Amino acid sequence: MEPHGDLNPDTDDLPLRANTNHILVRHYVLDMTVHFDSRVISSSVVLFLEPGSGVRTKAGAGDDIGHGTGDGAGTTDAGGSQERFASGFQQVDAIEDDTKGLEKVHGVEERDKAEFQVVADTDNIQSSHLWLTTNDSDFTLVLDCCDLDVSKVEELDITSVSAMLGLQPSERSEVYSLNPQAALIQRLISMPSSQWRQKHQLFSLCSRAPGAQDGSSLHFHRDKWSLQVRKKGVTSPQDFPRAVRICYETRPTGGSVRWTKDQDNRVCVYTAGSPINNRALFPCQEPPVAMSTWQATVRAPSECVVLMSGEEQAVPTEDGDTHFFIWNYYVTMAMPASTFTLAVGHWHQVTAEIPPALESGVRDRTDCDKTAKPRAGCGEWAEAGVASGLGSSSSEVVKGSPLQTGSGDQTTRSDSAFCFSTLEDAGLSVTDYSGMVDDSISCSHADYPCRFTEWSAWSQRVIPHRVFSPVCLLQKAQIGVLKLLPRCLAAAHAVLGVHPFPRLDVLIVPAGFSSLGMASPHIIFLSQSVLCAGNPGSGDKGLSLCGSRICHEIAHSWFGLVIGARDWTEEWISEGFATCLEDIIWAQAQKLSLQETTEQFDLKALLRWRRLSDELQNSREELQVLRPNMEKTGQVSNSGSSTVKHALNPEKTFMQVHYLKGYFLLRFLASQVGEQQFIDFFRLFVKKYHGQLILSQDFLQMLLITFPDMERKGLTLGAIYADWLDRPGIPKWLYERSAVWSQARLVEEVKAEVVKWILLSRSHQGKGRKRKRIEPKVNYKELTSDQLVMLLELLLEESELSVASLCALQRTYSLQNQDAEVRHRWCELVVKHAYAQAYGDVEHFLVHDQAMGVYLYGELMVQEDAEQQAVARRCLSLVQEEMDQSARRVVEEMVL
Ligand SMILES: [Zn+2]
Repeated sequence: MEPHGDLNPDTDDLPLRANTNHILVRHYVLDMTVHFDSRVISSSVVLFLEPGSGVRTKAGAGDDIGHGTGDGAGTTDAGGSQERFASGFQQVDAIEDDTKGLEKVHGVEERDKAEFQVVADTDNIQSSHLWLTTNDSDFTLVLDCCDLDVSKVEELDITSVSAMLGLQPSERSEVYSLNPQAALIQRLISMPSSQWRQKHQLFSLCSRAPGAQDGSSLHFHRDKWSLQVRKKGVTSPQDFPRAVRICYETRPTGGSVRWTKDQDNRVCVYTAGSPINNRALFPCQEPPVAMSTWQATVRAPSECVVLMSGEEQAVPTEDGDTHFFIWNYYVTMAMPASTFTLAVGHWHQVTAEIPPALESGVRDRTDCDKTAKPRAGCGEWAEAGVASGLGSSSSEVVKGSPLQTGSGDQTTRSDSAFCFSTLEDAGLSVTDYSGMVDDSISCSHADYPCRFTEWSAWSQRVIPHRVFSPVCLLQKAQIGVLKLLPRCLAAAHAVLGVHPFPRLDVLIVPAGFSSLGMASPHIIFLSQSVLCAGNPGSGDKGLSLCGSRICHEIAHSWFGLVIGARDWTEEWISEGFATCLEDIIWAQAQKLSLQETTEQFDLKALLRWRRLSDELQNSREELQVLRPNMEKTGQVSNSGSSTVKHALNPEKTFMQVHYLKGYFLLRFLASQVGEQQFIDFFRLFVKKYHGQLILSQDFLQMLLITFPDMERKGLTLGAIYADWLDRPGIPKWLYERSAVWSQARLVEEVKAEVVKWILLSRSHQGKGRKRKRIEPKVNYKELTSDQLVMLLELLLEESELSVASLCALQRTYSLQNQDAEVRHRWCELVVKHAYAQAYGDVEHFLVHDQAMGVYLYGELMVQEDAEQQAVARRCLSLVQEEMDQSARRVVEEMVL
């Protein structure tokens, strides 16, 4: 990994500009139409706003202050806090515009062009024509936004919605009795979550209200990172409109959505899990403290399926005779806007039995051979002749599951059969944490219908789940994901307790997706690289990558989603925890004995240790720190804005330090308090903090209080920060432990095999071509996938390996049929020893495992071997178009 010398804080740090301390979005109503021909989503979003609980204005506005608005929108007290705003918000906005070097909000576009060349491309600047008539004493609503074309921003006339007029005044709303619009919205926002259905209906009605009489009253201005809205003459958030509609279109190359083709060569679009999150999908408040609910209507071509984070499986309805279907989704639990996830494409639901009509298609396309695809000039979006699963029969879509509250609809077909197919696995029904409900959970989060307080949710070990994939991967997705998913869900329930979300969809995303998986509320994206490469008949063997990755993403439901990081620089809070829990949950899913579990943990720990130490040796120190803002972590400016350190740095995208060092910190803590005690503590922690955002200290402090022995041993908060979170490099404990792991039983087994292979390789040397006679008959031990990874890594340390031994290696372990982690090491070995016979394996990997192949390109180029460089160029040209943008940039730099 080559350090990028020209680190530029203006481009490496992601700005979060929304002024969430002044005003908060409490609910979004989105109305989106997906146009595949133009690669555009045309959309409107209605924001329902509430003035913030106030800035703790200190002398000298612009200084950094404490932690924003607390843990969520629900904690805001909309009442009497006007005074506390003072005039802080105007000053802060001005200061931020100066310091960021962004165009002044009231500036003239042309004038500063040269000066801001680096940051502001003029394409990106947009304003309503009356923007200049507003001025700095007017209050500005700042939304995070980029790559969107905004056509209109308007205030809505809620008084025209007759259903709203019947709303009972709530006590707090009367503060605003001077302004009927504000009073109505406040009543709506304040409705208790028990009435969420009525509430959503009203939000929906309001979102369609006409613009306010003085329709042109809202003026907007867009710069590179934000959309700013003002109402002329309105100087405080209290007087700002509470319901605002923004009409806009996404841009085809916008960073939040990826327009691409799936493995069947059919068009699709999905939220890309980009570092800029959803701000190129809809203007929003990105800071995690701005938690809100949403509902969305998505119009898409009738043959497409629309998957989204939403609490119920949507049932599409026809949109007149437009050949579009309408899908409605919603959430009742307030979450950061970054967790909103959408995928629209021609995917099919994976069922226990694949329909024969599709099966023949599967057989023909099993290899998904990319080289056979029409390439270049992909603008035509030609549709492949694959039978459609949806449009023709919407029965593929399942109506609300019987277990979901309030969905009184009859279910279509025998849905429950596949939703709960796995309960036939009798072993799954043993664990029952019903006892935990008796401790009467008192939720500390904002008001939402919480599963932690529902008896029926606690007893639900496996939540309703579906798997979607392109046709050519249906079979692999069935053998791997569909089979493992219920086991992993039940195991997660056994380890962590109630599932925070009522349902789950899993989608096998296009090959260009840049990571192995991504978790969002109600939906997980999985890379095709985790699907098993082996034969259908090989049982559980070869499923460990798939299983542990599913467990990792499921663990995010608790750590990352229902408990989120308040400061995004503390990525370890979600990734370290999920990495730690993936082992625990996967061991549970496999029903391993205690000893087997320990052995597997030790081997995994050693593999991760090797990876971490390798990464730390090859990366810049400032990127190795888990809490880069240290004691300033979680702090925001008076307005609520901040920047996320290194978030846009492409080098960081490919680093794993947050996963690995975070995981080791948790292993370390587990070693101090005891394995089972640590898991019990996780459950306790989840009970206390679900529905909230946390900082490192929330977890560590509660741990230190729960286990007071730790502090007696000198393990203080300060010591943990110093050793693990605030410094680069490797903590001492880790050095010591790794020596122990490297002598674990499973590792010793591997070492014994390595010796055999080295001896074999040496026996070929100097023996000319006569190896046939001489080659000794060796009995090789069967190894697990993790052991094979270890074996290949150790062999990679050898400077020479004979061609014959490489050939035998490939044959003995059938390496081309192993999981992607094993194949990755195999490819490295092939490249290192220029084993040309297996270049096909390398090409296959680079084309089909794009989430993992980035550095393999570097290895192909660095050897200066013409044949290898040709392989790299050929593969890049094959997949360039579909590659993830940041991966593509990194690879092109290496190859071209
Ligand atoms: Zn709760």
